Amino acid sequence: MSTLLETRLAETRARGVYPYNQPLTRSGPARALLDGREYLVGSSYDYLSLIGHPAIERAAAEAIARGGTATGGVRLLTGTTPEHLALERRIAALYGTEDCVTFSSGYFANIGAMAAVGGRGTAAFVDALCHRSVIDACTLAGARMHRFRHNDAPHLRERLADAAGRRAVVFVESVYSMDGDLAPLPGIACAAHAAGATLLVDDAHGLGVLAPPTDPAGGHFRLDGADVRCWVGSLSKAVPSNGGFVATDAATADRIRHVAAPYIFSAAATPSAVAAAACALEVMEAEPWRRQALRRNVAAFLAALDRGAGAHPAESPIVPVHYPDDDTALAAAAFIRDRGALVTPIVSPAVGPRRPRLRICINAAHTPDDLALLAEAVNAFDRTLPVPPE
Ligand code: PMP
Repeated sequence: MSTLLETRLAETRARGVYPYNQPLTRSGPARALLDGREYLVGSSYDYLSLIGHPAIERAAAEAIARGGTATGGVRLLTGTTPEHLALERRIAALYGTEDCVTFSSGYFANIGAMAAVGGRGTAAFVDALCHRSVIDACTLAGARMHRFRHNDAPHLRERLADAAGRRAVVFVESVYSMDGDLAPLPGIACAAHAAGATLLVDDAHGLGVLAPPTDPAGGHFRLDGADVRCWVGSLSKAVPSNGGFVATDAATADRIRHVAAPYIFSAAATPSAVAAAACALEVMEAEPWRRQALRRNVAAFLAALDRGAGAHPAESPIVPVHYPDDDTALAAAAFIRDRGALVTPIVSPAVGPRRPRLRICINAAHTPDDLALLAEAVNAFDRTLPVPPE
């Protein structure tokens, strides 16, 4: 029996444009080997180019020498080390919260946060473009989900009126993982506050990229500390490790530690992952030039795109390059790979059928030549299309 999925896989493989599950060997900042050839990587989450940073690698190696390769337990039982707690204090300080709970992935962190603040019967108001881990977190928590139009605070306000009298949670992202745009957080926070709803923000792609809430200038979104109940995040994007966290108040953190299934039933993050994450947070603070370089690189890439940058926010390293259909997006990725760069096509059902794109992620270590190569490859493919996309 051949399902639709199998038919599509067979077609893309037959056309030589199947781009997924490729075994990449890292060969330098924003570089990888595939089938013996070195490529520029144009879709890595390593926004600050911290993978391979000597201090971070040293910290990870020393952690293995001290504590071994694993903790041998889940966090609640024998998996917590002093280093887990120190990492949690550091993240809480960054977000200006009383406490923080770490997990072995950002996906788990979203599930843990919703388990604590959601629960059966909760009404969860979720932005239409929220990540799959947010959706799964709401489903697993037994919440009733209400989607509101992407980044539309007035629509959220309207939808929240439907939930009057029930416990309500609002879930958004700081930087959207597929579109790279930023949430209008002050408006969202205001709508949530007016309805007495709890606000959770997934900051997976904001950490290290946007100014944190404790930045002396008030953080990127200039929110009041009490506006956001949980800042959820990942330690596998700008922070080059594995893991996730929920930065929150002390009571919510305590609840998470006793109700969140991934904290209780899945192995703790390894000592090397914890040490790498803690060291990376120090490096991020000590080397602010990385964030500045990233911003310069985003601007240079956008300026070199013939199709124009539209309303893309200057701070965001995720640049979606849209095509009219999945096949064209897959063909674009194959075309660009032939020119020496790996970029990820995102097609349906991951994004809607009319929203296929390449998701280009700019990194701090991209050189002017790298950015020119990437932009020129996109431009050259656009010139092959009957009607070049805007
Ligand atoms: N939230 C968002 C917005 C993400 O993009 C991702 C991962 N791509 C996650 C959560 C999950 O993070 P992790 O990879 O650490 O599980």
